[in-house]
Amino acid sequence: MKKILLIILDGLGDRPSPELGNRTPLQAANKKNINALASRGMVGLFEPISPGIRPGSDTAHLSILGYDPYKVYTGRGPFEALGLGMDLKPGDIAFRGNFATVDKNLKVIDRRAGRIDTGTDKLASSLNIEIDGINIMVKEGVEHRAGVVFRGDGLSPNVSDVDPHQENVFVQASKPLDNGAKKTAEVLNKFTKKSYEILDQHPVNIERKKQGKNPANILLTRGAGIVPKLDNFNEKYGLKSACVVGVPLISGICKLAGIIPIMVPGATGTTNTNMQNKVKYAIDAFKTYDFLLMNIKATDVAGHDGNAMLKKQMIEKADIALEPILDLLDEITVMITGDHSTPCTVKDHTGDPLPVLISTKGIRSDGIEEWNEISASRGSLRITGRDVINVLLNYSDRAEKFGA
Ligand code: ZN
Ligand code: ZN
Repeated sequence: MKKILLIILDGLGDRPSPELGNRTPLQAANKKNINALASRGMVGLFEPISPGIRPGSDTAHLSILGYDPYKVYTGRGPFEALGLGMDLKPGDIAFRGNFATVDKNLKVIDRRAGRIDTGTDKLASSLNIEIDGINIMVKEGVEHRAGVVFRGDGLSPNVSDVDPHQENVFVQASKPLDNGAKKTAEVLNKFTKKSYEILDQHPVNIERKKQGKNPANILLTRGAGIVPKLDNFNEKYGLKSACVVGVPLISGICKLAGIIPIMVPGATGTTNTNMQNKVKYAIDAFKTYDFLLMNIKATDVAGHDGNAMLKKQMIEKADIALEPILDLLDEITVMITGDHSTPCTVKDHTGDPLPVLISTKGIRSDGIEEWNEISASRGSLRITGRDVINVLLNYSDRAEKFGA
């Protein structure tokens, strides 16, 4: 049996970029190690969910880990809250939150409270309160962002947003979207009002007002979702699993699945991330674990910026970091792909298929020497998200026989 390394270069897939001579960043990138892995193994095309579906990173990772995103995904809130390190339980309702600035009539002046970046921990902890038997937990995120969790009986995620998603309009009253959501909408509206009362008088905001800054005097919520109960990944596949992931959203999904996040110094989830450290920690983790998911976010960040040159550089940086993997193919099966395409010409996720490679000792070779979106289509693999773990188990001699 071999160990399994699944490397997700986030947003890897792309379309031709004029600044790269109408090549994709992957086509343009110098990547001898990744090419070596590809040429010793099988390559092909990968659909994270199904053809044409534009995945979020969350729904794509759920699919890749063998969960049906259409069943378990009810909104981004729960996944972001998990990623902030909030301790969630199945059945909790979670929202994404913004510290914002409102006037005394609750008209939104600044949805991001001047992109406040200090003191939000204090603001958040002042909002850990109970309303009508519902425990509310708030945790600060990056800049003005926060996670909000409701825990208690009779809750539903089917409520409309309080956040009006624009400025110079009033904060919206949340409405129940079905009969079961009345209580949740009521508590949410009370909480929103209460957040204004508490935050407007908070010392952090009194100080901000003194300095002429917009006070972060309300917490606006959106994207309600219920924390799903995911079948335990380890039990389902008979693996001991860990992940090396710089992005809260993905580590939150892993935690929910029972996959242990490994903290890596210098793994930032952005373009300055220390990829070499990630690979080093991943290799170390195989002393304890059988399965390791590695997500490298920098490629997606460059895609969203529309910066094809940067995306090419991030692929090259990953390639250098991945060199030690080449020596481990006797013991591990490695797959490299992405969770969706983020074409630099689109600056957002698309439903284009991605290249995938799988490499290990003893596997057939498709003879593709240079791995990219175009050449991968000449390889033998055609897989979707729900196939990934099965395919990896098969090439790691871990798959159970179906039948006699
Ligand atoms: Zn992604
Ligand atoms: Zn993205």
